[in-house]
Amino acid sequence: MLKVEIVQGNIASQPDMDAVVNAANARLMPGSGVAGAIHGAAGPGLAEECQALAPISPGEAVISSGHRLPNRHVIHCLGPVYGVDEPSDRLLGDCYRNALAVAEQHRLNSVAFPAISTGVFGYPVDKAAAVAIDAIAAMAPALRFVQRVRLVLFSDSDRRLFQAALSRSSLTSTD
Ligand code: ADP
Repeated sequence: MLKVEIVQGNIASQPDMDAVVNAANARLMPGSGVAGAIHGAAGPGLAEECQALAPISPGEAVISSGHRLPNRHVIHCLGPVYGVDEPSDRLLGDCYRNALAVAEQHRLNSVAFPAISTGVFGYPVDKAAAVAIDAIAAMAPALRFVQRVRLVLFSDSDRRLFQAALSRSSLTSTD
């Protein structure tokens, strides 16, 4: 059965996970926030590999190797810009669903997500948490390889909002 855990931390420092998800930009280039942390830790080889995979559109997920990250893979998702890319809830849910589908195709056991779209892209964290948890819960019965999903939140207040959404869901928490 899928185990979901919620932690406060840095998405680029999750050495026990097979893949980390990047809150990417369309060109899959280094940027601020999550993309800056992931590309910074992975080194220039990641941006080089990503050139052939870009551009992606909102809701899409593509996979690369992890380069100098401690993870085998990075799954790059482009979240919706809140209030611009519509319907934003479906596009944000697509990120989580498509990332998990890609992880399944690569037979990965564990995936860590940041709170996609809640930084520069302006998605309110409480709403994003509900969308993320609903999407993971909807995928859970179909997952054969993915056994562990970790949601990595930068702040304690964001962690609490995701924890509250998880408590309201049917998912099994590891806490
Ligand atoms: P987006 O462009 O999809 O909004 P951002 O990277 O700007 O993505 O932010 C997404 C969320 O990730 C924000 O809540 C931000 O606070 C958080 N964040 C920023 N850096 C990190 C990091 N190194 N690890 C985990 N979360 C981070």
